[in-house]
Amino acid sequence: MRLPEAGMTMIDYHVHPSYSADASGSIEEFCEAAVQKGLREICFTTHLDADPVREEDFVMVRGEKVSIYSPDWLEDYELSIRNAGDAFADQNLKVKLGVEVDLYPGVIDQLPETFHSTDFDLVVGSVHLVNHKAISLMEEAIDIFREYELSELGNRYYRVIIDSIESGLFDIVGHLDIYRRYGEEYYGEDILKLWEPHLEELVHSMKTHRVGFEVNTSSWRRGLKEPMPASSLIQALLKGGIDTVTVGSDAHRPEEVGSGIGRAISILMECGFQSTSLYDCRVPRPIRLY
Ligand SMILES: [Zn+2]
Ligand SMILES: [Zn+2]
Repeated sequence: MRLPEAGMTMIDYHVHPSYSADASGSIEEFCEAAVQKGLREICFTTHLDADPVREEDFVMVRGEKVSIYSPDWLEDYELSIRNAGDAFADQNLKVKLGVEVDLYPGVIDQLPETFHSTDFDLVVGSVHLVNHKAISLMEEAIDIFREYELSELGNRYYRVIIDSIESGLFDIVGHLDIYRRYGEEYYGEDILKLWEPHLEELVHSMKTHRVGFEVNTSSWRRGLKEPMPASSLIQALLKGGIDTVTVGSDAHRPEEVGSGIGRAISILMECGFQSTSLYDCRVPRPIRLY
């Protein structure tokens, strides 16, 4: 198998600096780490959590808790990223402005006005919650698994993703099968097919709204065998005609930047992808993998 062209494809399109309460490391520290790992492009995707039930609708700005509705934080975030872009240009690193919006029913109406007026390069939409509980956190995930039959979980999970895609507000779907994080151990292999009844509708909405997906490598750091989505779903999406894909580590600390990216690119190639995509001002630009 031919290895990907490192210089062309060493990118990380899912990175959380310390604006997210669960992340540590400044934008400059992440950029420094990216340069050291030989990355050519990094896209910051801080969390934008708006679910009022969970009361987590805040970000951290230089250590201070700030509501996502406060007018200034996105400006601060954007300025820091654009400044880093200038500072790291001579080290051959491009720095992009992204965001990871937490998807749940009704999210569209609760996004802050500043979200709509910010010139993002990439808007990622990701489900972390099922009925206000976090499927991405072990204890809450187990509660969810106890509450719903597997097929009901699939219905709820994919309904939120498809409805969110229909809003036209998102460019890519983040970690599409994150229910595997704790679901593989709870349900066994059955959960690997959770997407099957929803594939047709998912692909249709992604095509209609020109939405791509990411290969998220964080599952490897948590002991799973496959990235998110797993290669069976990656192949099914490509077969359905979805060929816009990014790769991201979901780093929450500078040392995690770039983790698993080469391996993810290899999997994309094995699945039949010929390109991955970079984004500028929310427009994808494919770059060849080989
Ligand atoms: Zn996420
Ligand atoms: Zn993330």
